[in-house]
Amino acid sequence: MHSFARQTFLENMAQTSPNPLALHVVRAEGNYLFDVDGNKYLDLIAGISVCNIGHQHPAVVQAVQAQAAEFMHVMVYGETVQTPQSNYAKQLVQCLPENLNCCYFVNSGAEAIDGAMKLTKRVTGKTQFVALTDAYHGSTQGPLSLMSNDYYSQAYRPLLPSVHFVNQNDLSAIDSIPWSEIAGVVVEIVQAERGDQLSSREFLQALRRKCDQHCCLLIFDEIQTGFGRTGTLFAFEQVGIVPDVLVLGKALGGGMPMGAFIADRALMSTLSNQPILGHITTFGGHPVVAAAGAAALNVLQSEDLISAVFDKEKLFRQCLKHPKILAIHGRGLMLAVQLADFDSVQLCIQKMLDKGLFSDWFLFAPNCLRISPPLTISHEEIESACQRILSALEEN
Ligand code: PMP
Repeated sequence: MHSFARQTFLENMAQTSPNPLALHVVRAEGNYLFDVDGNKYLDLIAGISVCNIGHQHPAVVQAVQAQAAEFMHVMVYGETVQTPQSNYAKQLVQCLPENLNCCYFVNSGAEAIDGAMKLTKRVTGKTQFVALTDAYHGSTQGPLSLMSNDYYSQAYRPLLPSVHFVNQNDLSAIDSIPWSEIAGVVVEIVQAERGDQLSSREFLQALRRKCDQHCCLLIFDEIQTGFGRTGTLFAFEQVGIVPDVLVLGKALGGGMPMGAFIADRALMSTLSNQPILGHITTFGGHPVVAAAGAAALNVLQSEDLISAVFDKEKLFRQCLKHPKILAIHGRGLMLAVQLADFDSVQLCIQKMLDKGLFSDWFLFAPNCLRISPPLTISHEEIESACQRILSALEEN
């Protein structure tokens, strides 16, 4: 029966790698996943920074059920008043600085980055972009153009031309960019897939200054850092730099698929003029998804889950001391534990699985182990997880 389900998965679904983990999940609750054999795993990655309030929070489940019973899809984005969407947009805007006052909802992070890139071209009348080396912004062809790593992008060329790559925190590289040609800069405050590497305040400030001087838009990809992950609702709050466009995804939908790009209304209005329908989507801001996202944001705020994030980070850092741990990168509950190499990480992930811990690696930091649990993880769970990680390392 079990192997039959696995076979159905392998035979009927497109795969992303030759050897998928293929853990057969049958239930998720709180900070745990349960497999078909009754094994329980503490979730140390939260669907990659999606399930920030844990799995199956009753408030989210209730919001989904209530909205599904009212109406689901009725009409494409932007044509009818659907209060789950507009109320969620209002709730988000109320958490943001004045210039981030208008939300465009889409269905994924990649689509949100793509929309932000289109918006940027419209607003500036320019076409070139700046992105960071070894950044990941999504897998469709717009975001893929922002990927410096040829191994992943070469097979899909031609992509969008004229993307300039700078290394994170390389201030001197910023000066060699042809700024008068640049439409926008896409940057993460914590560069996730490079192993949770922090962008310095000086670097972000320099980018902000160049954008101001040359009428370019500064786009923050907070798809992974958003919704409390780094210890504040959004990571940009910690560096005190406000972007022109904020891109959200992952936890935005409270476990449902959703992306958004958020900017000033005046900028956003370019998408509805000459041509009209400059960006359209059938399902963007789906009412059930919007209801789930709004409920999750309420939980995040009303249960005050963000204020404990730095303490939890500290505990992970205190407990994860071992000669095989070379460094811990990241901020808040977005951590990358650096081991010797890819093989050590893979072995550790496998041993952790045997010990009831679910983890993962990073696209551009294969020597790092990912720790991005639900923000609801308790101190006891952190201590127990760390003990099990250390014992997995001992066995390596
Ligand atoms: N930007 C970042 C920083 C991401 O981590 C991801 C997803 N890993 C994306 C964009 C793309 O999001 P999606 O998978 O929803 O298209």
